[in-house]
Amino acid sequence: MNYKDALHHPIFKIISKSAEELQIESFVIGGFVRDFLLKRGDAKDIDVVAIGDGIKLAQQVAKNLPNKPKVQIFKTYGTAMLRHDDIEIEFVGARKESYTEDSRNPAVENGSLVDDQNRRDFTINALALNLKAQRFGDLIDPFNGIKDLENKIIKTPLNPDITYSDDPLRMLRAIRFATQLGFTIEDKSLESITKNSDRIKIITNERIVTELHKILESKRPSIGFLLLETTGLLKHILPELTALKGIDEVEGQRHKDNFYHTLEVVDNIALNTNDLWLRWAALLHDIGKAPTKKFSKKVGWTFHGHEFEGSKMVYKLFKRLKMPLNDKMKFVQKMVLMSSRPIVLAEDMATDSAVRRLVFDAGDYVDDLMVLCEADITTKNPKKFNKYHNNFKIVREKIVEVEERDHVRNFQPPVSGEEIMNTFNIKPSRDIGIIKEAIKEAILEGDIPNEYDAAYQLMLETGKKLGLKSNIDL
Ligand code: ATP
Repeated sequence: MNYKDALHHPIFKIISKSAEELQIESFVIGGFVRDFLLKRGDAKDIDVVAIGDGIKLAQQVAKNLPNKPKVQIFKTYGTAMLRHDDIEIEFVGARKESYTEDSRNPAVENGSLVDDQNRRDFTINALALNLKAQRFGDLIDPFNGIKDLENKIIKTPLNPDITYSDDPLRMLRAIRFATQLGFTIEDKSLESITKNSDRIKIITNERIVTELHKILESKRPSIGFLLLETTGLLKHILPELTALKGIDEVEGQRHKDNFYHTLEVVDNIALNTNDLWLRWAALLHDIGKAPTKKFSKKVGWTFHGHEFEGSKMVYKLFKRLKMPLNDKMKFVQKMVLMSSRPIVLAEDMATDSAVRRLVFDAGDYVDDLMVLCEADITTKNPKKFNKYHNNFKIVREKIVEVEERDHVRNFQPPVSGEEIMNTFNIKPSRDIGIIKEAIKEAILEGDIPNEYDAAYQLMLETGKKLGLKSNIDL
């Protein structure tokens, strides 16, 4: 079969010519070919395999390009990379790999195209297109990857036990591709992943997180998390999630399975936001429920303080997975900490002051918080479902209203500490805090507007109650 169409970009002719000048063969392989056949649009990453020296081929290509781009060489891997327009092209010499028990870094020797295809993770990632002028666009598909693409199957070129044990990262890649592409992992592979799941411990956290991000960024992330769970991988990677599994029953009282609930929430939120960190927040919003779960005869199952516990766990989880402990982490923490707030409003009619407090506490994150909390509605009772959604609509309207009127989103006290000190002629002390708090509370309650004059007046009154003498009295 011939797929010249995939190679319409002029760069492929240049690679072809460069390889001919070096008298070597070259092929486009992997994700680029797969994504072309799946009509996922032109991929911006191109992998080229040379039957010979990949680095030399990269240098020759750079020489033949008018702007002579810089070639980045990765000596340890024997690969080279160059950028052309917005495309990143990676060159590698065809290789044969052999692995040892304790590492995913194989011993490498030069090999043929088939050797190189053998070391690929999946049949759909082993498809190669010839770049040689006479065979330009010819498909080389020794494992029938085309058929697997059609049947939407993820399969390894070799015995899956070897493929996954050699490089356990492939277990995550299989699940990630299944999630991204909506493919099924063949049974033999699934069994093998399950068997090899504890080998995931030799994979660095950074690589694991890359795959988790991709799963979370998919249309239906639950596909991936369910597969991670059933294969036994999830307990190694995110034990906080597997701890949410199961339904306890005491005296006929049950709570919901918070693991499956979480997955529903993640799928729901994926319909409404592409923000990776908001999706993380959805995934982690209930993790505090496992350690806080209690049963009491009076009220049944409770998870008191799970939001606070959960937000502390977010920090530990990010740290363990070596994810940056930056603003994104703080955002996820804040979302988890506040994740029950709007739902409380949605159960009853929300008062203005409750909405004002929500906006005050959530600040710029209030809209994201609403998206999270709407996704959190997974009740199967249509009456409740409609009621919550309608109430959330009202809450959203009130947020806009309250915002326009009271500007509490990024609250700045209308009377400063300095002014309080000057008015009462006092030094920094507890009284200043008390006065500031009284003003803030009055604004949030709606007793006074968020304006200078009203706040000034309240400052005088509160000071008086505290026994302070103001300049005005003097
Ligand atoms: P994506 O761009 O979505 O990550 P991709 O398939 O292009 O998909 P890359 O990580 O860029 O992924 O890998 C390029 C190619 O290299 C793959 O298509 C596959 O042939 C091969 N490959 C990547 N990682 C592995 C691995 N761990 N084991 C075997 N082959 C791999």
